[in-house]
Amino acid sequence: MPPFTRLTIPDLLLEEVIEHARSEAPNECCGLLAGHIEDGVGVMTARFTVANDLHSSTRYETNARDLFTAFRAMRKDNLELLAIYHSHPTSEPVPSLRDVEQNTYGETVVHLIVSLAGAKPEVRAWWLTEVGYREAEWSAV
Ligand SMILES: [Zn+2]
Repeated sequence: MPPFTRLTIPDLLLEEVIEHARSEAPNECCGLLAGHIEDGVGVMTARFTVANDLHSSTRYETNARDLFTAFRAMRKDNLELLAIYHSHPTSEPVPSLRDVEQNTYGETVVHLIVSLAGAKPEVRAWWLTEVGYREAEWSAV
């Protein structure tokens, strides 16, 4: 069972995520979104940039040192990891086979994907399961 049923993200954080995706293009960017859980809703309040060790336009690997720094900051501020985000510079915001295969978080966090393939950035959120994915409910606030 996922620890929350839907997510909220402040407009400002969402803009930061999209801006991060744009600044890393043509490579994929990645990062973490944290906050707290309130009545089954994951309320995102903080973003952590994580380097993509692969410097690739089609895949990403989160930098271990950046993850360590982010998790330490979350512990200090009593924040929970709610979502991992990354970008798809030239494809739709749907998990790739590799995204599903490399998911080490199970269904404890949502995966937010920003696509820069269209005229406007498109963001979708997903629960990754062992065999595939299903769309996660989220809203900008
Ligand atoms: Zn992906």
